Amino acid sequence: MAGKNRRSLNIKIILSLIIGLCLIVFIGWLSANTYTRIGTQELRDHLIDKSQLFQNYLKGELDKVDIIANMLSNQPLLQQRLLDADNNDLRTRSNQFLEHANQKLKTSNIFILDKTGLTISSSDYLSKDSFIDKNYAFRPYFTDALEHGKGHFLAIGITSNELGYYVARAIYNETEQLGVLVVKLDMDLLQTLSNDFLDDFALVDEKNIIFYSSNPRFYLKSIGPISTKDRLFIARTKQYPIPDIQPLKINLNTYNLNNAVPVRIHKTNYIFNRIEMTHPKWSILVFGSIDKIRSNAYRNATMVCVICIILLISFYLLYKRRIENERLQTIVENLPSGVTLFNENLQMLICNDRFKELLQFPEEMFLNHLPDMKQLVDYNARRGEYGPGIPEEKIAETLAKAKMRDDHVFERVRPDGTILEIRGKWLKDAFVTTYTDITERKKAEEEAKRNATYLQALLQNLDQGVTVIDENLNIIFWNKAFFTLLEFPEHLIKPVMSYEDLLRFNAERGEYGPGDPEQQVKMRLQASLKFEPHHFERQRPNGRTLEVTGKPLKIDGKSVGFITTYVDITEHKRMAARLRKMANTDVLTELYNRRYFTLLLEREIKRSQRAGHALSVLLMDLDHFKSVNDNHGHTIGDRTLKKFAEACKKVLRNIDIMGRLGGEEFCVFLPETNRDGAFILAERLRAAIEELPIQNENNETFFITVSIGVAVYDSLSDERMEDIIKRADKALYRAKSMGRNKVC
Ligand code: GH3
Ligand code: MG
Ligand code: MG
Repeated sequence: MAGKNRRSLNIKIILSLIIGLCLIVFIGWLSANTYTRIGTQELRDHLIDKSQLFQNYLKGELDKVDIIANMLSNQPLLQQRLLDADNNDLRTRSNQFLEHANQKLKTSNIFILDKTGLTISSSDYLSKDSFIDKNYAFRPYFTDALEHGKGHFLAIGITSNELGYYVARAIYNETEQLGVLVVKLDMDLLQTLSNDFLDDFALVDEKNIIFYSSNPRFYLKSIGPISTKDRLFIARTKQYPIPDIQPLKINLNTYNLNNAVPVRIHKTNYIFNRIEMTHPKWSILVFGSIDKIRSNAYRNATMVCVICIILLISFYLLYKRRIENERLQTIVENLPSGVTLFNENLQMLICNDRFKELLQFPEEMFLNHLPDMKQLVDYNARRGEYGPGIPEEKIAETLAKAKMRDDHVFERVRPDGTILEIRGKWLKDAFVTTYTDITERKKAEEEAKRNATYLQALLQNLDQGVTVIDENLNIIFWNKAFFTLLEFPEHLIKPVMSYEDLLRFNAERGEYGPGDPEQQVKMRLQASLKFEPHHFERQRPNGRTLEVTGKPLKIDGKSVGFITTYVDITEHKRMAARLRKMANTDVLTELYNRRYFTLLLEREIKRSQRAGHALSVLLMDLDHFKSVNDNHGHTIGDRTLKKFAEACKKVLRNIDIMGRLGGEEFCVFLPETNRDGAFILAERLRAAIEELPIQNENNETFFITVSIGVAVYDSLSDERMEDIIKRADKALYRAKSMGRNKVC
């Protein structure tokens, strides 16, 4: 049942965890998505701003060049220079003028071409690679200026090899066209801009060729195919080095980010903003990498997930703790003992109803908030819970004890007589106290103790020796009688004795008779280990007999040891022997009585029969015994009978058995004795009695005689005892009738 509950609880926890994790993953995804969206939107706005800024700047620069070209094309000095080509003074002055203008106006180069396209003056006239004397008739700006009065062109300089923007104006003398003024602006100026730009940008001409970019990998790449016409144009005008121009590999991503389709160039994902310029027809592309946004989004999402997991775990732990607290509360409420928990400032944190009930605190004390230790101690002291004395002293004493932070166990007898066991234990920063009503337990303990004392006294005062041996063959209980009966010396007495030691001591002092003591110990140990019930008598060397009885000792059906009792039965045995003798003996003559004599005779008949021996029986009757009684009294009659028996015993052999059959009639059987032997012995008896002097009360001597009938048993016949006695009786009768004092 418990296992099933636990399993279903585990399943619940696992399910909650799975749901929690799914939720966390979803939250992570949502957070990544939101972050990416917001980031992309911000990036887009930023790109739009940047590209506008870029356009404004570029336009400004280009307009400036246009204005400069306009202004300079009207300079009379330059017109004169074109008119008078050989004038050295004009040549020098116009060169110096152009150099000065170029310097002041911060352009890259200013030069003038004559109508054939030959450079006749240039701001770089002092330079080794000066434009002077170079013909630029192939450049479209020249032809356009001749045709339409103005022209512009973007190209890589033949001499400088730098990308430059050329703005040309025709120079007129009145209406006559004299030549062309060209202002060149190196695209290097964008360099300062790209330094300020954190993003990649590119300038694209009308033929889709990137002619400037902050990213060197984009430079001179086309973003679309270039037509053959355009290629020819580029070659003719020497605009760009044609073989270098390769298409830029742009992969369009399939997903859409806030309506911006990201592109992938050289492993970087971008969104971009494009502005088309009208004059010149260039495009400005500003790229913003979204990789960082995405990696930030993932990092943030991971952080969100981690926070969620931490929160989930915290919630789980809090939940578990709440359940544990509830459990604890339930346990505390259901404990049979009163329980309190105080913090280190002695404020009560927990207590159960049993505590209030056991100590009979009024419910009002616990109504609004739990009382502190001082309140409880105060209340207790005043109602005499701590015994007689001044309450203030008791309060101070009890509070001081509580502050000592010692664990304690003590019993308190309450004024109503109930006994409480109070156990206090300090935990780290609190202490827990339990109050248990032990009144009944105490009573039971005392009763058990009293009973144990009675039992102990009883056992110790028993005449019987008692021992209890446990399963390890240790003697765990014994009484005095055991030591006395077995005469163990005092030095052997220990709280727990080894049974083996006692066995060895006994064997060595000859208690078990002759033999090897170690062997005797071994045999007895083996027998004892069986723990089988036993009962035997042991004859001790001092002549006394012990009755030893062993039984397994069981408590609640479980074997807990072996109990052995030792009883001295010497007297008992003696008494039994005496009783046995009394039962078989005639009190007066101390001869066997009739019952026992006939039993012995019957046994002897059987023995003779088996062995084929002879057996003789003598039946004796005192002659005229009545007159003895009559003449001397009954007492003398008795003494006569006693004397008669003693006299007969003297004559008889050890193996002969004599009994008194009744009155003054006696019988003797003579084992292994034939007729002759029997007659000799009978005759000897008769003669002995005849001469036996007996004194009467007056100390006068008188004599008696006896008549004896003899019967001999024939071992070959199967005659019964009664028949033999009958034959002896007949012989006796004959002896009587023959005048008595005869053997027949
Ligand atoms: P007889 O020679 O024929 O045997 O004569 P008797 O007198 O012995 O014969 P009887 O059998 O008549 O008498 C036996 C007497 O023995 C009778 C009785 O008083 C006496 N007597 C029997 N038992 C005891 C006894 O225990 N003590 C005494 N004092 N007398 C006994
Ligand atoms: Mg008789
Ligand atoms: Mg007689």
